[in-house]
Amino acid sequence: MSQDVLLSVNNLKKQFAKKKGFLNREKEIVKAVDGVSFELRKGEVLGLVGESGCGKSTLGRTIIRLYQPDSGKIYFEGEDITSLSLKELKKKRKDFQMIFQDPFSSLNPRMKIEDILCEPFLIHKVCSKIEAKKKIEILLKDVGLSASVLQKYPHEFSGGQRQRIGIARALALKPKMIIADEAVSALDVSVQAQVINILKDLLVKYSLSYVFISHDLAVVSHICDRVAVMYLGQIVELGATHDLFNNPRHPYTKALMAAIPNTELSKSISEKEVLDGDLPSPIAPPSGCRFHPRCKFAKQKCSLEAPSLRVDEKSHQVSCHFPLELVN
Ligand code: SF4
Repeated sequence: MSQDVLLSVNNLKKQFAKKKGFLNREKEIVKAVDGVSFELRKGEVLGLVGESGCGKSTLGRTIIRLYQPDSGKIYFEGEDITSLSLKELKKKRKDFQMIFQDPFSSLNPRMKIEDILCEPFLIHKVCSKIEAKKKIEILLKDVGLSASVLQKYPHEFSGGQRQRIGIARALALKPKMIIADEAVSALDVSVQAQVINILKDLLVKYSLSYVFISHDLAVVSHICDRVAVMYLGQIVELGATHDLFNNPRHPYTKALMAAIPNTELSKSISEKEVLDGDLPSPIAPPSGCRFHPRCKFAKQKCSLEAPSLRVDEKSHQVSCHFPLELVN
């Protein structure tokens, strides 16, 4: 594994059993993440995009072992963390944190901000409460808040302020990687821009790497170095942001771009490439290429044979029998 790789995910799978039928006696298997491999480099922002239900949030949670993977491997700084015990994992968790879409649900409404921010230092026995108080003032400054917030409760803040508090809490233990799961999706556009700028500044200041999960391609194009596109639990395309959006190779990526109204990303896309139909169920994914029932370029081979990954000279990966550069 190269020195500059922070996280390496290898053929990761995560399924959930869903009860159904009379008295919930039958079970269906939802293949939420189904054989995902990628690397995150040090200092990099990797976007994970796709429609709701494509498995990107499950992938984010499985990477940091909030969900136990069914198979595959996760290496963090070269160490296999796939089957660390809970005790070992607790120590390791300092290195990777998560920022959620709704910080309100992760901030205890009965605790003052001071106690919320001091908690990680005290749980991990990093320092005394007096020292923790000094550290949290620096954290607040780094996310653009003043110490005046410390004696208030989460409900007294706007969504953007709460997200800044959530970011400060995630940074408390100086993690190396942050999984940001739809971290700006619930915010107004102007507040989104402010929070994205804060995340960009912190990336450098705290030597972080981000996995940035979002359904919003415009936001992803602003913050990410590389982007992985997910469809029904699998990565179908992965490449440098500029290359992926200027030269999408998978029909699904182009269809996602077409779905964004009136932006740079969608202006060159024709009617033909607009996405039709709903995401099929991950309980019984389509045969062959999982995108074939919705793909405007599908041929007979597509329903019979799952495509393997092709990589071009720019390390741009695509999983498609007939990538767009061949059909256009
Ligand atoms: Fe479309 Fe076939 Fe490519 Fe799948 S493999 S995306 S169905 S062209």
